[in-house]
Amino acid sequence: IQADKDQLSEGDQAIEKALRPLNFDDFSGQGKIVTNLKIFVQAAKQREEALDHVLLHGPPGLGKTTLSNIIANELGTEIKITSGPVLDKPSDLAGLLTNLETNDVLFIDEIHRLNPIVEEYLYSAMEDYKIDIMLDSGPSARTIQIALNPFTLIGATTRAGLLTSPLRARFGIKARLEYYDADLLSTIVRRSCAILGTPIEHDASYEIAFRSRGTPRIANNLLRRTRDFAQVKGDGTITLEIAKMALDALEVDQKGLDEMDNRILTTIIDKFRGGPVGLSTIATACGEEAETIEEVYEPFLIMQGFIKRTPRGREATEEAYQHLGKTLPNKSPG
Ligand code: ADP
Repeated sequence: IQADKDQLSEGDQAIEKALRPLNFDDFSGQGKIVTNLKIFVQAAKQREEALDHVLLHGPPGLGKTTLSNIIANELGTEIKITSGPVLDKPSDLAGLLTNLETNDVLFIDEIHRLNPIVEEYLYSAMEDYKIDIMLDSGPSARTIQIALNPFTLIGATTRAGLLTSPLRARFGIKARLEYYDADLLSTIVRRSCAILGTPIEHDASYEIAFRSRGTPRIANNLLRRTRDFAQVKGDGTITLEIAKMALDALEVDQKGLDEMDNRILTTIIDKFRGGPVGLSTIATACGEEAETIEEVYEPFLIMQGFIKRTPRGREATEEAYQHLGKTLPNKSPG
């Protein structure tokens, strides 16, 4: 089960919506980011100004969209949601910007995928709340300047490294979301169960948490499927036994690793004798971009203790060998 957004059935979408935290207090984890955002939001509200532009980066499913909605909610303003690839032409962006009320939030997901021409337009919008629009073409072409209401742009990206520096520089608040530990994820699972009216045993919530790849979206996905098992194979309560049965049936890795995580570890172990091996070599062998491995996969594998970063490259740890059921080679030092 991947952390993808777009593949949910209608029923699952309704559940997803019900489970989304609506204010800072419902949002578990990311303590430092949330503490700071609370202050910035309160200060902006007191001054009756737009909140500074916010850049949220980090792997998928960790709560970037959720936090953006919470920010708008806590500001008491509306949020308009779009994404980089959807904003094809400057007029698409202009249409959105001119429809914002004072201090509203514009959320652009996958902001690293903005068309460069659209991005240019965004600069003056962010800086001076103005955009220049080209009217007509050919000899009668002229530009007019439109004043916008003050607004907050929230940009989300999994790939902060791909943002151009002029764009990055225009965000006053930048935050990187981290993977969640099992305590936090089990809290999120129990909160979701309370909303769904599904009883769950404490250790069952941990079983789901351990297998969720540090990601709330995956935790909620696994919970929905486990709940189905509890309903059909049990009496509706998610017990540890039911959770294990469901997660095994779904072939979810014991430690929550996904296919690419496993491919990365297997590659380092089988092709490079456990490393050390350079990031770009791993990337080529796995058929994934080096930056994606570095920004999305590796942080989780390091957090779980499966990979070590050394000056000479990445190394698979003993835990990685154990997890994949492989024998550690006898290596001479150096
Ligand atoms: P992203 O935008 O980073 O891909 P989302 O904001 O869409 O991630 O989060 C995915 C799902 O995970 C949301 O639907 C939300 O219900 C849940 N979620 C994310 N972060 C939290 C959190 N801190 N507490 C509770 N639920 C969360």
